[in-house]
Amino acid sequence: MPKTMKAAVLHGIDDLRYEDVPVPELGDHDVLVKIKACGICGSDLPRVLKTGTYHFPTIPGHEFGGEVVELGKDVNPEYLHKNVAVIPLIPCHHCKPCEVGDYAQCEHYDFLGSRNDGGFAEYVKVPDTNLVFVPDGLDPEAAAFLEPISVALHVVSNNNVTFGEDVAVYGLGAIGMFVAQWAKAFGARVFAIDLDESKVEIAKSLGMKDAICSSKEDAVAIIKEKTNGEGVDAVFEAAGSGFVFNQAFEILKNKGRLGCVGRPVGDLTVTNKSFEAMLRKQITVKGTWSFEFKSFPHNAWDIALAALRDGTIQVAPIVSHRIPLRDTYKGIRIMADKTEPFFKILVEPELD
Ligand SMILES: [Zn+2]
Ligand SMILES: [Zn+2]
Repeated sequence: MPKTMKAAVLHGIDDLRYEDVPVPELGDHDVLVKIKACGICGSDLPRVLKTGTYHFPTIPGHEFGGEVVELGKDVNPEYLHKNVAVIPLIPCHHCKPCEVGDYAQCEHYDFLGSRNDGGFAEYVKVPDTNLVFVPDGLDPEAAAFLEPISVALHVVSNNNVTFGEDVAVYGLGAIGMFVAQWAKAFGARVFAIDLDESKVEIAKSLGMKDAICSSKEDAVAIIKEKTNGEGVDAVFEAAGSGFVFNQAFEILKNKGRLGCVGRPVGDLTVTNKSFEAMLRKQITVKGTWSFEFKSFPHNAWDIALAALRDGTIQVAPIVSHRIPLRDTYKGIRIMADKTEPFFKILVEPELD
């Protein structure tokens, strides 16, 4: 193994440097993963440009997959050269939630790509319990999507979407597009909505024939018409928009559910009309954070992997850029400044 590697290292707010750093040293239960692809997440934008990571220097990037190339001394030797996705949350294994196996709720967790070094690098150190093995025949690049797919699965299951329901998903970024695909897989009719026509076309190509381009069409009128004036059972707000947040109350039926996913950039204003609608219709507003991570009663990451493998969830149509590691900052700027059309941008060190 080489002693040094290239990485995009965050030294301070808006100070991401492509540079040489030591290859991480492994503990007994760690493996070294050679990164194949790491997605730039919407949450990386404020993390790199505005708020910073928990300490500096840190290598950001939490949506990644690659190949296991080195093992700590207590790791199963069969793991070597396996393709993997990585669960970026590292639980403490000591707190109450950890004791009952609900690792996502860990009170003292570590997180690759925000609290600890993540995937905008040639290599990353990962505890062997955080690996999800990618079967042969599945493109290793797709492993980078397992994190956002798991996040979206959590959104849909956490809001109890069931067969035959009408669901509206606002904001077809990667998470919104996966939420829409999951809701469809759960048996709902999905109104996938975005201002950007190209994203609406992708949703249609994924079988969501009721997708709506809200910059050209009246989403409220269409949804009301197609639901016999009743409205939808659930709305997913994946745009982080106050406008959408208020519109949700207009199109939800009585006892509908509003699932909040998108992170607004500023304060949201709730209109009096929306508040009144929430009261009268007895609407439930529920937040969802990150992904589920537990072994029982099921492991959400395995379900996500199975859906990726059998084509229930598709990732290829949403990749817009594959860029070398040296251009990580450029990729972040494309997303922040919207200088060109983009969807999912993947950082791939092999391109350097
Ligand atoms: Zn993310
Ligand atoms: Zn814990």
